Amino acid sequence: MSHDPQPSPLAHLLAPLGIPTSEIARRRLPVFAEAQNLVVVETHAARGFLLQPRAAQAWREMQAAAAADGIVLELVSAFRSIERQAELIRRKLDNGVALADILSVLAIPGTSEHHTGCAVDVTTPGCPPAEETFEDTAAFAWLNAHAAHYGFTLSFPRGNPEGYLYEPWHWCFERDRLLTGAV
Ligand SMILES: [Zn+2]
Repeated sequence: MSHDPQPSPLAHLLAPLGIPTSEIARRRLPVFAEAQNLVVVETHAARGFLLQPRAAQAWREMQAAAAADGIVLELVSAFRSIERQAELIRRKLDNGVALADILSVLAIPGTSEHHTGCAVDVTTPGCPPAEETFEDTAAFAWLNAHAAHYGFTLSFPRGNPEGYLYEPWHWCFERDRLLTGAV
């Protein structure tokens, strides 16, 4: 294999954050391609939420089925670009948060499921977004029973091998396919 003297675009993005690319290999994290084809799946709070078309379709069907069962599923987050992920980490670093702490809650840019346009962070009325208490809601129970039918699975259960904190709110469409295609 020949040596490539040019740093990869990802290395270029990670270097100023103080994240060595070797960290990706060390934690055996998948590197995903950024979604090119996105649609607005939902607009609320003056924000448009983007997903890949098939994930958007599956989300809408799942949300409608939940509603028919009296369960309200709301998006907190959907597509987030690799650049934006880097900005979020930069902001926390600027606020004095230790990198190790940041990386237990935010994926290394390039490894987040959010830039694939297939991942959603979900909440339900009365539950603060991105909090572990989401697991006590009827919405979480409904997702556990029905999300797989729509192609969504919980990405980061307790004790996940990626080393993230438990994220009951984070669900991904066709995650197995994403992981298989990861480079
Ligand atoms: Zn998430």
